[in-house]
Amino acid sequence: MEVSNRSTGAALVGVRGMAVGFPIFDPIAGVVVSLLVVHQGVDISRENRQYLADSAPPESEQAEIKQRIRDHSAVHRIHDFAAYYSGHVIEVESHAEVEQAMTVVEARDLESELRQRVREIDRASDVHAHLDPAGLGEWKDTAESASSSA
Ligand SMILES: [Zn+2]
Repeated sequence: MEVSNRSTGAALVGVRGMAVGFPIFDPIAGVVVSLLVVHQGVDISRENRQYLADSAPPESEQAEIKQRIRDHSAVHRIHDFAAYYSGHVIEVESHAEVEQAMTVVEARDLESELRQRVREIDRASDVHAHLDPAGLGEWKDTAESASSSA
């Protein structure tokens, strides 16, 4: 019986102890090692994904991004704002409430301007702006949306 590899860890030692004398020892040890390796891989990728894709930039940075969007004269207010890291850059999603009479060309230009404003922040990579026209019930907590049924 081989007693060679002492560096495989306590879990494996336990399996060995239990399995001494059984011919099924090797496959069990193999399965345990495989599970440990897979488990470790999952842990590592979860940590990295958390860092790379899911984490949000600091509040101060988010506040600055929001401010830049809100400061545009065509934007009344924003809602459903989200900023998150994708790799080491920041992706931004936001709804912006605008006048209903805006043309498609104006809306396109506004989106470009919002994107440019935010991208002046070094780490901001891209902005996805969803424009909500007044009067369609998408505006949050405004007199317009509250009284539009009258
Ligand atoms: Zn919206």
